[in-house]
Amino acid sequence: MIYCNYCPGYCCYRLKGSVLLITAEDINRLARHFKIPDGEVRKRYLENRNTFKVREDGSCIFQATDKMTQRCTVHEARPVQCRRFPYDQPCPYLEREDLLEAILPRLEQSLRSAWKEETVEKVDTI
Ligand code: SF4
Ligand code: SF4
Repeated sequence: MIYCNYCPGYCCYRLKGSVLLITAEDINRLARHFKIPDGEVRKRYLENRNTFKVREDGSCIFQATDKMTQRCTVHEARPVQCRRFPYDQPCPYLEREDLLEAILPRLEQSLRSAWKEETVEKVDTI
């Protein structure tokens, strides 16, 4: 979707009742991407048999912390559901205010944290 280019990746946050379904093929694609066994992908990145771990703010473990420049750190190897969403429909995150209301505070917090980390790094190197 062309409008994804201008979006910070709202769909990469877990919302109550939603789930990112990871298949065996998705795991194998990531295993090849990282050059590790499938079982190691499960151990490192899956929260249970079928979905990725998320951070405290609900963002996917693979979402970049500097979301304005790069959103998915495994873009080439991302799961099928991520590739297909929003299934040739208008993106619900850009259409529904209730979804944006749920996600924007988390996104702002993540960006603030990323900005703080970057500032500390710069100060450290001066
Ligand atoms: S599918 Fe929607 S929420 Fe996800 S990146 Fe694209 S525009 Fe943003
Ligand atoms: S794998 Fe990438 S595209 Fe899929 S939810 Fe995680 S960060 Fe988003």
